[in-house]
Amino acid sequence: MDKSRLLLHACCGPCATVCVERLLPEYDVTLLWYNSNLYPSEEHQRRLEATRVVAEHFGVEMLEVAPDPANWRDAVSIVEDWQRQPEGGSRCKLCLTLRITRTALEAAQRGFDYFNTSLSVSPHKDADFIQRMLWATAGENPPAQTEAINFRKQGGFQRSIELSKELGLYRQDYCGCRYSQPKL
Ligand code: SF4
Repeated sequence: MDKSRLLLHACCGPCATVCVERLLPEYDVTLLWYNSNLYPSEEHQRRLEATRVVAEHFGVEMLEVAPDPANWRDAVSIVEDWQRQPEGGSRCKLCLTLRITRTALEAAQRGFDYFNTSLSVSPHKDADFIQRMLWATAGENPPAQTEAINFRKQGGFQRSIELSKELGLYRQDYCGCRYSQPKL
């Protein structure tokens, strides 16, 4: 029997590793690269290249959406003091929502059975909020459905580190946008 097709938003190569490993036994997985939050452009390229390595390693396809920093800024700058907010605040919720919403749209338009995101792997992210957004965006984009798996559970983050080391992947030391850079 054919496997269900699942579109997995990849926030970076390391986080994508454990998600693809867990999903592949049950799903026909395609990665989606859409991360307009990343700054500067060299960082965007490094994370994109690491994610391509993951796609090649597991033998899965990858759709790449060109970054649109202006669109990201429009989406996250609607809250007061957005540039000074700590990680996990309102700016981040809007950033996560933007990427999950686009994934749901792409899944619906391209005829995937399911979608999900690797964003829940990182212990710095609000997994409950991500789960709620996955369900909400699936409801807004029928027939897209979500397998809202929390990939951090069952040692998901540790496994992502192991696999990243095995594959020699670049592992970033900040979340991704200009305002999360360590020295700002
Ligand atoms: S800190 Fe991370 S989640 Fe928050 S806005 Fe920046 S890139 Fe997005």
